[in-house]
Amino acid sequence: MSLRDYDIDVYSIIEKELERQTNHLEMIASENFTLPEVMEAMGSVFTNKYAEGYPYKRYYGGCEYADLVEQLAIDRAKELFGCEFANVQPHSGSQANGAVYVALLKPLDKLLGMDLSNGGHLTHGAKVNFSGKHYHSFSYGIDEKTGRIDYDRVRDIAKITKPKMIVCGASAYPREIDFAKFREIADEVGAILMADVAHIAGLVVAGEHPHPFPHCDVVTTTTHKTLRGPRGGLILTNNEEYAKKINSAIFPGIQGGPLVHVIAAKAVGFKMNLQPSWKEYAKQVKANAKVLAEVLLERGYDIVSGGTDNHLVLVSFLNKEFSGKEAEEALGRAGITVNKNTVPGEKRSPFVTSGIRIGSPALTARGMKEEEFRLIATRIADVLDDIYNLELQDKVAAELKELASKFVIYDRPTY
Ligand code: PLP
Repeated sequence: MSLRDYDIDVYSIIEKELERQTNHLEMIASENFTLPEVMEAMGSVFTNKYAEGYPYKRYYGGCEYADLVEQLAIDRAKELFGCEFANVQPHSGSQANGAVYVALLKPLDKLLGMDLSNGGHLTHGAKVNFSGKHYHSFSYGIDEKTGRIDYDRVRDIAKITKPKMIVCGASAYPREIDFAKFREIADEVGAILMADVAHIAGLVVAGEHPHPFPHCDVVTTTTHKTLRGPRGGLILTNNEEYAKKINSAIFPGIQGGPLVHVIAAKAVGFKMNLQPSWKEYAKQVKANAKVLAEVLLERGYDIVSGGTDNHLVLVSFLNKEFSGKEAEEALGRAGITVNKNTVPGEKRSPFVTSGIRIGSPALTARGMKEEEFRLIATRIADVLDDIYNLELQDKVAAELKELASKFVIYDRPTY
């Protein structure tokens, strides 16, 4: 029996979500469209299987195929990132980060990460997160004038706070991260260096962003952002001692049974990332983001750091009357999904903000190139220029729906 026949209520909601993803332009920088093949693996019989432990060392019987698929995912992850050890079990990026902290820190050890309001992630030591509650967390930020990480300031903060671990990597930072510089700083204070490349991993493995290895001791990522795989996390290292501790921290430390169906889907995703065509995708992601930044700059918008080196653009409305929240709502009505975001020098609350974050990975996955991004950026500026004009927003929504219809990504629910 199909899902449609068995449960029309859930089926109808999924249909609506498919329609939303199809008709709107998805520009949330952390989202992407994964392959139907990845979804097929995620919807496979492995969802039924308990496989606590690691390949060939399990606490359950009947794991012979779970072993094969997890080993395949591990081998592909290692090949993709060019490293010695991979743990493919983290259920999410946050779990991956949590496991590294459990493995390599003791409660209340000092952790130095990028400030949430400056583009860091919650798990990099934010006080509302376990990382800021269970560890003594400190933060560095970006220079308000340049919009870039001020490495001298990071060094000063590291020297004063003497952290056990420094975390580099971000959720809303449009420029390259200098892992070698972070290594120098970590060495000066004797800290472990972890890179969280969740946002940029797809660019890293394509050679479109500097690689965190060999500079970083441990690398974490999600598999669903620029990597375009299933939702999940991944931990990588070249340090055998750390690898053992990390494996124990994931299981039995913070997780129970691995999601073998998601691990199978991760393996499929890594296969996609290992294809020569992946480099083309990553190049296009960056080229499209550049066009977004260029057009918005031409139209007089303040782009944090003056441009982008990666897949996202941060627009600041500090010099405007309206907020990030209002911009998100206006663009949403116009068929463009983005998220409000705090910006350097932020004066509004995180629920309101003075900026938006716009990303290119999802629309690039749909096949859009510079020409489409030029048009979309122009419409973004049109909407923002006249932000309370609902009629204009509806007109833009109709035009962009037409554009979207030429770039169908899924023509049916993929299960
Ligand atoms: N790390 C970074 C840099 C992120 O941007 C995110 C998600 O936004 C995460 C970790 C957490 O990933 P997840 O949402 O899978 O827990």
